[in-house]
Amino acid sequence: MDRENSQDSGSPRNDLAESPSYWMDHVGPVLLSESMIKTRVAELGRQISADYSRIAPEFVIIGILTGSFIFLADLARKITHPLRIYFARAKSYSGIHSTGSVWLHDFELLDVRDKHVLIVEDIVDTGKTLKAIAEELGRRGALSVQFCAFISKQTERKDEGVPEVRYVGFVCPDRFVVGYGLDCDERFRQLPFVGIYRS
Ligand code: 5GP
Repeated sequence: MDRENSQDSGSPRNDLAESPSYWMDHVGPVLLSESMIKTRVAELGRQISADYSRIAPEFVIIGILTGSFIFLADLARKITHPLRIYFARAKSYSGIHSTGSVWLHDFELLDVRDKHVLIVEDIVDTGKTLKAIAEELGRRGALSVQFCAFISKQTERKDEGVPEVRYVGFVCPDRFVVGYGLDCDERFRQLPFVGIYRS
């Protein structure tokens, strides 16, 4: 096939095929291909646009850094309803392990009072991060808070009060995954697909 004119075939080996050793030793199997992600993100954008156009003339998205940056960039361009985009930070993992506590940063800078807020997260595991964010935005007077996660892990959520994730891109097995914004110690975020991390 002519490389210049080839379309995404669902293969993970697009431009990164130039340097496969960078990721092949540590990432695989691939769970979500670039084309699967593209299709699903467009569907989510349509659904979110339709839902928010019924409840408010404008809404607020807060992207949770760092992992959501690629997902949000793609998703936002598929949303046709007016919105403001903010970013804030949350951290609960160190390497491939959950620390059990959630560190939130920059939420005090956001104007969310009386606003309809959609939190955009990369991945939900225990749900502790979502719970901490929901509590923080409640304290700051948001009118409504909903959650959109690129991936929801198939884990039993033991904590009480973990909010429901209204918009889920994909459900994946309880394994540590990287790519499409998701990292392991800041590496592999630029992979355009998602795969299981092998240490
Ligand atoms: P939770 O608070 O739901 O247990 O964890 C959510 C956060 O942990 C995510 O925002 C992400 O930063 C990190 N995380 C959880 N599972 C994974 C995973 O499989 N891969 C990566 N890269 N990060 C994960």
